Amino acid sequence: MKTGVIGLGAMGANMALNLHKAGHLHRLWNRTRLKADQLSVQTSIPVANSIEELAAECELVLVCVSRDQDVLEVVGQIAKGIRAGSIVIDTSTVSRQTAEQAAAILSYCQVAFLDCPVTGGVEGAKNATLSLMAGGNRAILDQVQNTLSAIARRIVYIGPTGSGQACKAVNQIICAGINQAVTEGLAFGEHMQLDMNSVLEAIAGGAAGNWFMDHRGKTMLAGTFPAGFKVNLHHKDLQICMAMARQNGDTSLPLTAMTAADYERLMAAGYGDEDISALYRLKK
Ligand code: NAP
Repeated sequence: MKTGVIGLGAMGANMALNLHKAGHLHRLWNRTRLKADQLSVQTSIPVANSIEELAAECELVLVCVSRDQDVLEVVGQIAKGIRAGSIVIDTSTVSRQTAEQAAAILSYCQVAFLDCPVTGGVEGAKNATLSLMAGGNRAILDQVQNTLSAIARRIVYIGPTGSGQACKAVNQIICAGINQAVTEGLAFGEHMQLDMNSVLEAIAGGAAGNWFMDHRGKTMLAGTFPAGFKVNLHHKDLQICMAMARQNGDTSLPLTAMTAADYERLMAAGYGDEDISALYRLKK
């Protein structure tokens, strides 16, 4: 399927490269033009002059931008150019309501929309091993399955529009807990003056082993926190989770609230663009 990618940040650029390797990539667009030009040099895929132009020339438009408002702005531009019968997929992490609004805007143009947030980190985007959680019409997901398999190892249909984002909220709450547990445990080990490389090696093979520690443990202990997944983006996700909980009449997400407050301290100290493993700064 002729696929255009909008949003060539840490995640989107890697997804675009994998779509290119599989022969699907047709057009590129990024708000900061330089990033799109660099990827164009690498792939020989043309940069569209506008979102509308990209949308007009593609059968499938994949979006990967930062926040709710960004997705709605981009979808508004897509709607001006896109042809009826095309498909738009949003892989950003946003709220369920944003997914519903995006679907409603595009339905006026007879364009299908899937909310397909992803997990697996920048490494997953690079290696095409993302796990993708899809909300929307299952028959549409079937149509794009082959294209999406160029970026994701696991594609799971969750339910109607917005369900993908609701599933991603579950994922983000669990990530908050893992971050708290790993940073606290490793800081404790360092204070005990243990050989932390040996600690990492021993723990990785047992019940406390996990992706986050495998991929961020060494850099964290070295005191470096290159993104990765930025503190300010996870903070945004946790706000979404807490808003969802309030809407359900459930205000008790203590781990999520604690992590959001910790991230606010990091952001106030100027660490918002670091990887979420920067929580280690506070634990130390
Ligand atoms: P990033 O590196 O900061 O990239 C963000 C991208 O969005 C950039 O291309 C940026 O354009 C674009 N953008 C932001 N606002 C825009 C707007 N109003 N209009 C058009 N483009 C806009 O972020 P990322 O890490 O790739 O994350 C992207 C999304 O994926 C987020 O929703 C994030 O929560 C989610 N996610 C991230 C990870 C991860 O590990 N990083 C994992 C899963 C999901 P510019 O280049 O012009 O700034």
